[in-house]
Amino acid sequence: MNQSATRNWRSLATDLSVEIKPFLNGSHHDATSDSLFIATNPATGHSHFQYHISSADNVDSAVLAAKIAWEEKWRDINPSQRKHILLTLADAIISNSRDLALFDCLDMGKPIQTALQEIFPAAGFIRYYAESIDKISRGSVAPSSQDSMEIQTYRPHGVVAALTPWNFPLINTCLKIGPALAAGNTVVIKPSELTPRSTLLLASLAQESGVPNGVINVLPGDASTGEALVKHPLVDHITFTGSSATGKTILSTIGDSTIKSLHLECGGKSPEIVFSDIQKYDLSEVSKTILRASLWNQGQVCVSRSRILIQQEVYQKLTAELVRQAQSFTPQDPLDETTTFGPLSSKRQLEQVVTYIEEGCKSGAKLNLDGRNACTSEPGFFIGPTIFSEVDPDSSIAQEEIFGPVLSILPFKDEQDAINIANNSRYGLAATLWTKNISRANKFASQLRAGKIHIIASTNQPEGAGFAHSAEPVGQSGFGVEGGTNGFLSYMRQQSITFSMD
Ligand code: NAD
Repeated sequence: MNQSATRNWRSLATDLSVEIKPFLNGSHHDATSDSLFIATNPATGHSHFQYHISSADNVDSAVLAAKIAWEEKWRDINPSQRKHILLTLADAIISNSRDLALFDCLDMGKPIQTALQEIFPAAGFIRYYAESIDKISRGSVAPSSQDSMEIQTYRPHGVVAALTPWNFPLINTCLKIGPALAAGNTVVIKPSELTPRSTLLLASLAQESGVPNGVINVLPGDASTGEALVKHPLVDHITFTGSSATGKTILSTIGDSTIKSLHLECGGKSPEIVFSDIQKYDLSEVSKTILRASLWNQGQVCVSRSRILIQQEVYQKLTAELVRQAQSFTPQDPLDETTTFGPLSSKRQLEQVVTYIEEGCKSGAKLNLDGRNACTSEPGFFIGPTIFSEVDPDSSIAQEEIFGPVLSILPFKDEQDAINIANNSRYGLAATLWTKNISRANKFASQLRAGKIHIIASTNQPEGAGFAHSAEPVGQSGFGVEGGTNGFLSYMRQQSITFSMD
């Protein structure tokens, strides 16, 4: 391990702190529950902070503060003022990148270099939506008779409850508060119990940037806090990112309480489909791109391409190259600046991954690379990449979201076979298609059940759509658009107003 690269970040980590209490109406309040959450540093396996979870009473106070702030301080302020405040917040995120990145590194094991790289997109989401405020028209005029006029406009929902997961703590918070606040809503955020600290720091930065008290409220807590928030009658809209299982629970909780709008961004088991015409490329470049997409964040990514479908003609050669390259992803200390592959986020996550590896072995798949062999003797939650080939498309390692560095490689014969295997999934988040044949790509994309599709006909890395990128998931991956200008509308409701005139 490189001691000089770790020393600086270790000492910075020692001095780092933030108040872990409900942040509501602009200040921290005591959590009124007796229940204590003890957080563990995934790199060491030792507990590193603890807090009382926010109770239903705390939820009630936060939602009330958000409601009053919406009516009195945020809904009706001038667009230019709202934009200025959010742009100031985006700048504050960049200025505080070191501490924000360190919290995510320590709390979920994200390598510090990766956490630092995520600051730019996190601030970028706030900036993108701040800039949208005075650029996107809010509706249209419907055709009608001379003496009447009907306008269709968009209004903010009111109080938005935002529930976020642990895999991209800061980015997920910014992806939600950016459009929610820009559209004129106030928010109550319930970050993952594992990773509340970057969101709490963000709330303080927002206050320093001029966001009025009560516009952003944060409740550190667990599922019970989330459930109380989802049920609260004064919450007008819910935005959830997390597992499909929790998404389903939220749907039934809402059904049993009050009717309110929501959008769900849930799990995935996304395919990477490789046609043999990629033989024209350098297979080592192809493998590098595939592994980057599937092992990023230790495979703990909703859109991770964890099902790799390879056409028979190139199957053996590409599988061998993927296995060869994956061996270089060595799990290391996330505080080391040279580390690109850290531990998993929790003991539970590690146990889940190991269980799936055992199931994969029992299913008859061929184990080409066993990540359990890459475990260090350190007590943290480390595991290396695991690759199975000859995978049965109906087995658990081909069907279920493992949310770790486990890849399942499946062969296919032709286009129809590929589409059948790719769509043999209850998820529909993303897919990648490698082919030079553009008419095949076009037809294939129309048949794929996935919200985000990447067609790769070159190993060049173009810039792409950046923050304008948006998509709606399919099946058990959820529903509702996130990202881009269409994602802005997810945080508004349509209203029609008819003027009847003399
Ligand atoms: P999770 O579902 O366990 O938790 C997500 C959030 O919901 C947390 O804040 C949690 O405390 C809260 N929660 C849990 N139970 C609840 C309940 N009954 N009522 C209300 N809130 C509740 O997910 P996780 O383990 O934190 O994150 C991993 C999952 O997130 C993976 O499935 C991944 O695919 C998904 N994810 C999806 C996207 C996307 O954009 N589609 C992005 C990132 C992560």
